[in-house]
Order: sequence, then structure tokens, then C-alpha cells
Amino acid sequence: MTPRLQTRRVLITGAGSGIGRGIARAFADLGHDVTIAGRGFAALEETDGGRGMTLRTADVTDEGSVASLFETPYQVVIANAGGGSAGRLGDTTLEAWNETLAVNLTGTFLTFRAGLAGMTEGGRLIAMASTASLKGGAAIAAYAAAKHGVLGLVRSVALEVAKRGITCNAVCPGYVDTPLADRAIAGLQTRLGIGADEARARVVAGNPPGRLITVEEVTAAVLFLASDGASMVNGHALSVSGGEV
Ligand code: NAD
Repeated sequence: MTPRLQTRRVLITGAGSGIGRGIARAFADLGHDVTIAGRGFAALEETDGGRGMTLRTADVTDEGSVASLFETPYQVVIANAGGGSAGRLGDTTLEAWNETLAVNLTGTFLTFRAGLAGMTEGGRLIAMASTASLKGGAAIAAYAAAKHGVLGLVRSVALEVAKRGITCNAVCPGYVDTPLADRAIAGLQTRLGIGADEARARVVAGNPPGRLITVEEVTAAVLFLASDGASMVNGHALSVSGGEV
């Protein structure tokens, strides 16, 4: 059952594909006033698909770019933009490390800081974290460090906002069927010199149900955290991983 929500102004970053696209469409289809942000306008148009969302190009690693999204406050702010390439620590360049921290951690910080400034009682800050926020993994040191950082941010902000009737939570998916998972599978093929089927099987093996998680399954968790009924869920890391963690 989809939790009932009052109509709200909702912002989703990184909404030009994958999980962000699914979340944006779900909120819009429920009648909310949805703004989607991403680096490419064409991808945002595809996400909208005639639903009447507000489209904004923005890079979440850029302070001014993020600030420009918040001229009018939102009641639900979803810091979803993220990503990063896999690689063992010895092969991780400083540039790749910095880029991974910038989009996942600094991007969430900038989005939440700007979002909180105008947020009123009942507001919701939601970060798209990962099971990599809750455990490490070989060849994902930079990504796991960034996503662990997101959880530290979420848990701390949650305590700051609790008396204002605002909540701050993280959704922690395992591998979800999106372009990010496709890139992870392709990267594994290259790194290990294995075929596409074997690489996919290795990724899927990390999910106890033996399949990739769907965007809809992640969206359901976000809708719950945004709902009135989740008013006492605060500083939580909601695992959507079929039991991986
Ligand atoms: P995706 O690559 O389809 O989506 C990520 C989106 O973020 C893209 O649209 C990308 O353009 C955008 N983005 C990247 N850098 C940006 C920047 N600097 N400014 C603005 N937008 C930027 O992958 P996804 O799976 O939909 O990922 C969404 C979120 O879910 C990410 O935070 C990711 O880390 C997280 N996540 C994904 C999985 C998975 O298996 N797919 C698992 C756990 C967590």
C-alpha cells in the first residue's frame, strides 16, 4: 500500500535517470509539485514525460548551482545524485577520490544545507545512501567512504532538526537495476577479464534474493519516509537490500 501524502513541493537531484527518475515520476503521479534537477536538460525532459514537473539544470557539487535551486523552499528534499567508479585503493587516483566525495558527500551536504534553510515543520530531508554506507566492499573504498560519510551527515542533521518537526533519513539500497549497476557490471568485466553474464551474476549474488532491486522498491521506501506516518523516523538508515545488511 502506498502511504498517503499531503500535496507537497518536492525536489529530487540526479533525476535524469535511474532511481531519481523513478522517484520523481512516482511523486508527480501522486499529484505533488515536483522539481527535478540534473546536469542535462534532455534527460530531465525524458523523466518528466509530460507530467508537468519543473526542470532545473544543476550540478550538486557546485555551491552556487545548488543554491539557485532553492529560491522557493521545498517540503521534501531528496539528495539522490551520486555515483562513482570502482577500483582498488592502489588504483584510486586523487582525482577519482575527490570526484566521488564531491558528488556523493559534498553534494548531499550542499543540497541539505540549502534545503533546510527554508524548510518548515513536517519537512523531510532524504539522502540516497547505499548498503555501502553500512559496510565496506573490495574495490569501492572511495564510494563506501563517501556513502558512510552521507550517513554521518544524516544522523547528525537528524538531531539538529528533531525539535523543528523535520526529519532527516537515508535510504540504503543494494544493487538496483539502473545505469549505475550497468556501469558496475561493465567495470567488473574489464577489471576481472570476465564475460558480461559472469559479471552480472557476481553483482546479483550480492543481493540475497538473487536479483537486482527495482527502482520501484527503492521509491516505496522514499515515499514512506516522506509520508506523515514517518514523522518519528529520524536519523534512520533504511536498508532496501533484500537482507544484504
Ligand atoms: P544513475 O547513474 O542512473 O543516477 C545518478 C544520477 O546522478 C544521474 O542522473 C547523474 O547524471 C546524476 N549526477 C551525477 N553527478 C551529478 C552532479 N554532480 N550533479 C547533478 N547530478 C549528478 O544511478 P542510480 O542508480 O539511479 O543512482 C542514484 C543514487 O542511488 C546514487 O546516489 C547512487 O549512489 C545510489 N545508489 C545506487 C545503487 C545502484 O545499485 N544503482 C545502489 C545504492 C545506491
